[in-house]
Amino acid sequence: MRIAAVLHDRCQNRKCNKECVKFCPLMRTGVECIAFNEKGKPVISEVLCQGCGICVNKCQFEAIKIIGLADELKGEMVHQYGENLFRLYRLPIPKKGLITGILGPNGIGKTTAIKILSGTELPNLGRFDDPPSKEEVLEHFAGTELHDHLKNVYSGNIKIALKPQYVDKLPQSVKGVVRDLLSRVQERMTVDEAAELFELKEVLDRELTKLSGGELQRLAMAATIMRDADIYFFDEPTSYLDIYQRVKMARIVKDLSVDKQVIVIEHDLAILDYLADNVSVVYGSEGAYGVFTLARQVRTAINVYLDGYLPEENIRFRDRPIEFESSPPRSEWNTPDLVEFDSVEKDMGEFKLNIGKGAVKIGESVGIVGPNATGKTTFVKMLAGVIKPDKGALDTAVKVSYKPQYISADAEGTVRDILYAKAYDTVNSGFFEGEVLDPLGIKHLMEKDIKTLSGGELQRVAITMCLAAEADMYLFDEPSAYLDSNQRMNAAKTIRRMMEKTGRSGMIVDHDIYFLDMVSDSMMVFGGEPGHHGIGEGPLDMRDGMNKFLSAVDITFRRDADTNRPRINKPDSRLDREQKSKGEYYYA
Ligand code: ADP
Ligand code: SF4
Repeated sequence: MRIAAVLHDRCQNRKCNKECVKFCPLMRTGVECIAFNEKGKPVISEVLCQGCGICVNKCQFEAIKIIGLADELKGEMVHQYGENLFRLYRLPIPKKGLITGILGPNGIGKTTAIKILSGTELPNLGRFDDPPSKEEVLEHFAGTELHDHLKNVYSGNIKIALKPQYVDKLPQSVKGVVRDLLSRVQERMTVDEAAELFELKEVLDRELTKLSGGELQRLAMAATIMRDADIYFFDEPTSYLDIYQRVKMARIVKDLSVDKQVIVIEHDLAILDYLADNVSVVYGSEGAYGVFTLARQVRTAINVYLDGYLPEENIRFRDRPIEFESSPPRSEWNTPDLVEFDSVEKDMGEFKLNIGKGAVKIGESVGIVGPNATGKTTFVKMLAGVIKPDKGALDTAVKVSYKPQYISADAEGTVRDILYAKAYDTVNSGFFEGEVLDPLGIKHLMEKDIKTLSGGELQRVAITMCLAAEADMYLFDEPSAYLDSNQRMNAAKTIRRMMEKTGRSGMIVDHDIYFLDMVSDSMMVFGGEPGHHGIGEGPLDMRDGMNKFLSAVDITFRRDADTNRPRINKPDSRLDREQKSKGEYYYA
């Protein structure tokens, strides 16, 4: 079976010479294989197309995909957005008492699946020009678990609660203070109980517009979990939370799942691993099609995902496996220091910050970890000379390029416009193309209007912008947010390689352990009392850094026997106790 997909957001029909039509061998012999719709986008006849792939190669914007699919997918299509548009095959099935995870790249149909399962979108079974009724949909799925699920959803027999993905958009749609929002959903708990559980007490009377990303996430999770539903959908429940809060959130969701059905999309693999019982891996091609596989036990699912190969389906979706080292990297840096500091103090009224003795070397990537509001960004601002320390030695001659935590799409123009405006020569160099634009998948985004980018696309553009600027030190505040797991690994490698190759230094604040493992040569650990007193130590080598940081949050990791990947230990399990007594929290 062969499908043709036209990615309308990539197609620049006004900027090209209609190469798809010009070079299609069928069109040249007068067979109308490609026509144009009213918007001027190509429409490819899947009946006539012979699959030669010439149009795919000729289109300079890579807007066409012609893909051969396994015949067993025939009859399994759940939804298609339109002719030559994205199609979704199969669906995950929510199970009572279990947490079902969804793992797959962005643009592959996860959100579409959640919309269908929650009843907000009626699946058209591929009949986009003649959509079926609810009755026809149920008839189509007759005799399957999905039938029973959808029937309950359509008849209103089950209640649904959904935590949306983009919590930073919440203040635009909900006005008022935290307490108002929570008081509308006091079903399973009261506002006070929720404020306690989700650590929202201090912000109960604060306007939503004044909340940080982590607070918005906890608020959105609280508002969802407070509702008395039968099925809960969580679309990325942990972005902006620190690791302690991520693990805590996972425990709350686990408790909830005892007598409920829960479906979770999560790209932090350490957390997904800890949280989910079963995981459905989604494979396919961004913008063209997505296939939900049968749920696997969580450990197996993440292992096959990292391996890049689905054995049962015989599908390879990544050339190489993603691998982890079970011992820390050798910490031999022969390069000179870029900056040194010693006993730095800053009193900012409500908040005091103390930094010990340390140095960042040229070419080094330093992972910065610690709870929110412990002074990570303040420290980097001191390095950049934006904030002056009260006491201590700090070299502030370095030029810093900074990617903030929250990125907004308020710039005018296309991605190409803003990248060129930032650093035309750098962006246009072959080196930058090979090292940054290609691995981060920016080329496809070049012609897109900044305002139309998804969260993950915007994040990749922001990382690129930061790297394109001329500086000595590059600071990334939570670059993993909204990236899928694959993109996280690519971003980590890109940042680390760029620092090494260009002889600059990177400081990367993040909370995803797999990401930190991949991006860091060393670690700076922040602790203290969030919002009042921050204490920063390091950079330390990876072993010391991980131990210091994880002992503070009381979490240990074991290693997966097959892949070496780190896995969170159950609190108070045998391994957890053993590792704590040895003081080995990560490289056990
Ligand atoms: P994910 O959640 O995995 O990132 P989505 O379900 O949001 O993926 O989208 C899957 C694909 O379907 C994407 O390529 C997206 O562009 C496309 N898509 C989503 N909504 C629509 C729509 N209303 N019309 C056309 N295409 C859509
Ligand atoms: Fe024509 Fe199909 Fe070949 Fe494209 S893949 S050039 S549409 S025959």
